[in-house]
Amino acid sequence: MKIYLSPPDIGELEQAYVAEALRSGWVAPAGPDLDAFERELADRAGVPYAVALSSGTAALHLALLALGAGAGTAVIVPTLTFAATANAAVYTGAEPVFVDCDPATGNLDPDLLGRALKDHDVSAVVPVDLFGRCADYDAILPVCDRYGVPVLEDAAEALGATYGDRPAGSFGSAAVFSFNGNKIMTTSGGGALLSESRNLVDRCRYLSTQARQPVVHYEHTDIGYNYRLSNVLAALGRAQLKRLDEMIGRRRAVRERYAKLFDGVKGVTLLGADDLGSNCWLTTVVVDPAEAGWTAADLAGVLRNHDIETRPIWKPMHLQPVFAKARSYVTGAAQRLFETGLALPSGSSLGPGEVDRVLTAVHNFLDAR
Ligand SMILES: *Cc1c(COP(=O)(O)O)cnc(C)c1O
Repeated sequence: MKIYLSPPDIGELEQAYVAEALRSGWVAPAGPDLDAFERELADRAGVPYAVALSSGTAALHLALLALGAGAGTAVIVPTLTFAATANAAVYTGAEPVFVDCDPATGNLDPDLLGRALKDHDVSAVVPVDLFGRCADYDAILPVCDRYGVPVLEDAAEALGATYGDRPAGSFGSAAVFSFNGNKIMTTSGGGALLSESRNLVDRCRYLSTQARQPVVHYEHTDIGYNYRLSNVLAALGRAQLKRLDEMIGRRRAVRERYAKLFDGVKGVTLLGADDLGSNCWLTTVVVDPAEAGWTAADLAGVLRNHDIETRPIWKPMHLQPVFAKARSYVTGAAQRLFETGLALPSGSSLGPGEVDRVLTAVHNFLDAR
């Protein structure tokens, strides 16, 4: 049986919630589970308003539109992220400008961000909470404030994480979560946008439902989108949200076992694992080949032979062919993480036997060196 990186964690509670949503007859997009899911998400992130959407990417797109991103403006995006962060900027007509990361965390480098803000007409900055660790908001928010530029928190990977005493999803002018199948919790596909601004959330809700004016004959004064989450999927999300802390606890336990295994192994660190507020979405090793005597790719190859899935850290956006012409501020930190990092199986549905199998394979690999 193959062991996956971060598979969905679905059980009886999820089955009961979805069955009840179907039984209730609320199969059309709207419904009571959708309203409740939005309230529960907002509560969890400590913000007053949320709208549930069809994906995290859709949430990024609408939030950027609402914040004024568009042709003739730049959107600052970390180069070390999943492509969706940059793609959403392009959907609006804005130009993505890429900024490198702090090598210790993989998160946006605040000093470089300051330089990028100085050089461009920026409509929004989109820090990413990489692998479930919040970006350095104490440093990022004041820099953006100085330039009067709004911050959109891409918390797609960070639901349930905290920074200081505040939850992920509560930073900046708006924030997004993703409920894709590989994330910390899932609606099979889905996302959400959260904000302290009722106007912003109302505007995005309106854009997400085809921008229909509230009249019976479907009057339109804006270009809209079909980006709503369905009530049935919201029911799945409610069950997952109830189990979120339990699932984070399991991921943390897996991370602790990796930490113990790699403790004292020369040349190996766990990326950002010193952060107690992380939701531990993915545990990622960074291997210095000169010190370790082996590479992340060597380990990946051995684990692949044991039917164990791993994945490199995101390939930086400024190295992607599709963004070859984009402007970027790079130090090489993201590229080094891409070349030396490896995400290990981190899912909350991994059983003790499966974790043992991974750890034994890694242990034998280390022993053989
Ligand atoms: C997953 C992810 C997204 C996109 O979310 P989807 O729900 O898959 O559209 C955006 N940004 C980051 C950093 C992600 O990891």
